[in-house]
Amino acid sequence: MADNNDNPQYLVGVDFGGTKIYAGVFKPSLQLVGTARISTKPQRGVDNVVERLARAVRDAVDECDLDMKQIRGVGIGAPGAVDPDDGCILFAPNLEWKDVPLKKELEKALGVPVFLDNDCNISMLGVYEVELEAKPKNVIGIFIGTGIGGGIVINGEMYSGFNRTAGEVGHMVLETGGPKCGCGNNGCFEALASRTAIFRRLREGVKDGEKTMLTEMLGKDLEDMRSGDLRKALKRGDKFAEKIIEEAAEYTGIAVANLMNILNPEVVVLGGGVMEALEDQMLAIIVETAMDYAMSGTSKGVKIIASKLGDDAGITGGAVLARRETRKSAK
Ligand SMILES: [Zn+2]
Repeated sequence: MADNNDNPQYLVGVDFGGTKIYAGVFKPSLQLVGTARISTKPQRGVDNVVERLARAVRDAVDECDLDMKQIRGVGIGAPGAVDPDDGCILFAPNLEWKDVPLKKELEKALGVPVFLDNDCNISMLGVYEVELEAKPKNVIGIFIGTGIGGGIVINGEMYSGFNRTAGEVGHMVLETGGPKCGCGNNGCFEALASRTAIFRRLREGVKDGEKTMLTEMLGKDLEDMRSGDLRKALKRGDKFAEKIIEEAAEYTGIAVANLMNILNPEVVVLGGGVMEALEDQMLAIIVETAMDYAMSGTSKGVKIIASKLGDDAGITGGAVLARRETRKSAK
């Protein structure tokens, strides 16, 4: 396809999170050509964050020596409950947003069509389009990062449910009376195996006198810990970190088994920052545990794989959404 200045061709995908905004510019073939990243700063209020989203898009476009005139559309994966039809964020607890008409505001700021959906649906869309070449009909995506979210494909279509909130796999309760979750329940998958949960368990362990190399690396409060620090400690044979990661992988395996028993997918894809950093340490345990807990007829031939897109799943999915929606409106 020719890149013609008069004919806008490029797509922008945005991963809009509570701490950072990550934007990527793609060719229509979904080849990534450039990115920009800025912090979200939700405490500054809605208008400021909308301005930062617009800035991230413009920065990414500028980074590729392109002009907004060459952009066909912007697709955004946003946190919380989203109404994709009118482009509103209904409720995003980690931003403290309610009923924000984000599509309208950003179209005004950028002068190009903007589309949005929930961040995990968008990540699933990216993984499905780019990584799953065989286009399996039934797929579950589980994204493990600060929180845990999911995307469900049934019969080749994203499944969103009655109130468009389906896929909240992170709030499946795996341990009654377990640790408190951000949603108000106890013992959710997210409260047991997200990055937040893993870090909390490491900190609690250190307070209780457990020994780990992480305290030598980061100080006894384990401040500014990242998944990469954990990977380093595991590579050096840190026993306590190993135990916590094994437990998180087992919980993940049980969650996968529950979903396999209910939905019988052909492929389960595991993505997000935690999987990206710790695939080598976690994937084998997840697969083994899932196969152990799943009903035998259910698990036969099911593939449980790690996403290769990692942190780029969200921006890729955003570009896929923008491509699909701008094609629709061109018809
Ligand atoms: Zn929960």
